[in-house]
Amino acid sequence: MKKVSLRPGKERSLLKRHPWVFESSIARGGGDSGETVRVESADGQFLAWAAFSPKSLIRLRAWSFDEAERIDAGFFQRRIEQAIAMRARLAIASDAWRLIHGEADGLPGLVVDRYGDTLVAQFGSAGAERWKTVIADALLAATGLTRLYERSDAQAREWEGLPVHTGWLRGDGATALTIREHEWQLTLDVAEGHKTGYYLDQRDSRSRFADAVKQYGVKTVLNCFSYTGGFSVAALAGGATQVVSVDSSGPALERAKAHVALNGFAANRHEAWDADVNATLRRCLQEGRRFDAIVLDPPKFAPTVAHAERAARAYKDINRLAFMLLNDGGLLYTFSCSGGISPDLFHKIVAGAGLDAGVDGYIVERLSAAADHPQTVCFPEGDYLKGLGILKR
Ligand code: SAH
Repeated sequence: MKKVSLRPGKERSLLKRHPWVFESSIARGGGDSGETVRVESADGQFLAWAAFSPKSLIRLRAWSFDEAERIDAGFFQRRIEQAIAMRARLAIASDAWRLIHGEADGLPGLVVDRYGDTLVAQFGSAGAERWKTVIADALLAATGLTRLYERSDAQAREWEGLPVHTGWLRGDGATALTIREHEWQLTLDVAEGHKTGYYLDQRDSRSRFADAVKQYGVKTVLNCFSYTGGFSVAALAGGATQVVSVDSSGPALERAKAHVALNGFAANRHEAWDADVNATLRRCLQEGRRFDAIVLDPPKFAPTVAHAERAARAYKDINRLAFMLLNDGGLLYTFSCSGGISPDLFHKIVAGAGLDAGVDGYIVERLSAAADHPQTVCFPEGDYLKGLGILKR
């Protein structure tokens, strides 16, 4: 077994069961791409079994902090079974959910979503890549399913020096699927959609939004960064009479339109604008348009803390414009899915936006990813998605 020794003092994060070791913490040792290595402190104390990523800034990702544990097929089977058992306790209001959420499930670099009878996996680290066959077999054995599609095309692959790979890993057939979320029907294509096909992490917030639309008597909604219209369907279900979906992806908007029809809502209650959100907000302001509710669910502006400052300006700008476009008493559902922006910082950014817009509001909701995208005690970086529901004063 190959060994990696850390520099003095650099054992602290592994001792706290945080699974990452950065390149700069390593004194000597290494391995092949994804190989399991024994990680030791400068004085030779065992710290973890970890996967070695020769090209990544995150050079090691810990599989286990237990010296007696073997990283073999049985290990992956146990971790996968544990993750599945956790989801079974959640009473998820959908037939689609995140089965494996990387570090939070003790499987760094691995993301697996389940859409009905189809699994979709992203192998995002050298370690996950190396164990792909074992993981694929364990996933099918633990779920009893036969279809597993690979979507290893996330940016993390590039940082790991791994090539893009997509396609059926197990089974085959149609990649276009229909799922149920709450009482809605939604469609996706696991081969073509963003991420693994759909943004499952916003499931709970979509349902909260439907309730809020009803509760606050919202009639007009601007759903920014709508993707395939999840929040738009929620708004219509909550009783909104006019909903606009804005996104820069034409195919996503076509699906949003289809979702309106599929869920039995009249087509004239919904508009799809293929446009840049920033430009759209400015245009609406110029035209004097106002809305009872606005959703801002932008893509990740700050992938890491290093991007936080520029991202903060971008978040502030769209939130400022949204505050100005809201009717008095209107509802803002605003999100950040950037790991580099803490909930506290996000609140400060939104506060700055309110100040610039000359608007205050009541925070009526604090939102986060659905529990099948778990956060764990030892991995604060897992807290990526945060949102606020705000009633304009
Ligand atoms: N709210 C969605 C998920 C949004 S993901 C849901 O509930 O499913 C972010 C979306 O923003 C993507 O669909 C992407 O196409 C879109 N997007 C990214 N940059 C954009 C821009 N500048 N203007 C409009 N849409 C943008």
